[in-house]
Amino acid sequence: TATIIDGKGFAAGLRERIAGHVAGLKSQHGITPGLAVVIVGEDPASQVYVASKARLTAEVGMHSVKHELPRETSQAALLQLIDELNRDDAIHGILVQMPVPDQIDPNAVINAISPEKDVDCFTPANVGKLAIGLPGPVSCTPLGCLMLLRDQLGELSGKEAVIIGRSNLVGKPLAQLLLRDNCTVTMAHSRTADLASVVKRADIVVAAAGRPNMVKGDWLKPGATVIDVGINRVPAPERGEGKTRLVGDVEFDSAADVAGAITPVPGGVGPMTIACLLANTITTASLLNGLVPPKDLTP
Ligand code: NAD
Repeated sequence: TATIIDGKGFAAGLRERIAGHVAGLKSQHGITPGLAVVIVGEDPASQVYVASKARLTAEVGMHSVKHELPRETSQAALLQLIDELNRDDAIHGILVQMPVPDQIDPNAVINAISPEKDVDCFTPANVGKLAIGLPGPVSCTPLGCLMLLRDQLGELSGKEAVIIGRSNLVGKPLAQLLLRDNCTVTMAHSRTADLASVVKRADIVVAAAGRPNMVKGDWLKPGATVIDVGINRVPAPERGEGKTRLVGDVEFDSAADVAGAITPVPGGVGPMTIACLLANTITTASLLNGLVPPKDLTP
């Protein structure tokens, strides 16, 4: 049966290295990397993410700022806050928690963030840099997936990788990163014909479709490495009435019988995403100050 990839443990180690880089930037350059997290509205899931982002940012020694705006905040008010953060020298990373309420256009928000502080890699400038391999922040979840894959497999060159999901947040940027590492990349999505047989050829399967337990063990090539990005909340009556639990996009038990290695949900990719957000803040803080970002935090 498969090796369980310990994303939670890997992320803890990564945050320790990040804390070391923060200490180095402070002592050698007088720079304290600063991350501002902005949340509009009271979506409970987003609030949990934002609280843990703020806590972990402080834990690695960074300057952490949190702006909680009411749900009825206007687009103009949000853009003004972003403008202030763009001009604030103590802030090197700006994250606006998505989704934003309906009265706000997410593209207007993304375009307002200075690419130099765009730690989510949402802006067209940074998406372009990622595509042509220039230094800059890299989408957090894909960067986390890449780090886990390299740690598990070493060399990725020549491997067949199938990515399920083509979102701007996960699938597309991950394809860029795996191409850079010389994988043969296939992007599958909701219109892919015969997904099971596409997945069958993969040495590396990354599932990012947001469909609970969609990928079955018998879809997999024996020994494949499976990265499950999906986070789906499903009813769990076995835990009591009205209870829920989190599952991935991969049916874990059947997949673990066939795969060589697999990430669990929770405890796999999720913790890596937040750690990579902190890594990106080191990258942007370095670049904003004319320094070369640490190699171990960048692709
Ligand atoms: P999205 O809804 O923007 O994109 C989903 C993609 O999956 C689309 O490209 C769609 O074509 C594809 N898809 C949908 N149904 C499919 C099907 N039946 N077969 C094949 N492809 C299908 O989602 P997203 O933002 O990319 O997120 C995907 C999942 O990853 C969600 O469960 C989300 O919660 C999770 N997620 C986790 C993290 C993390 O840190 N672990 C980060 C971001 C997203």
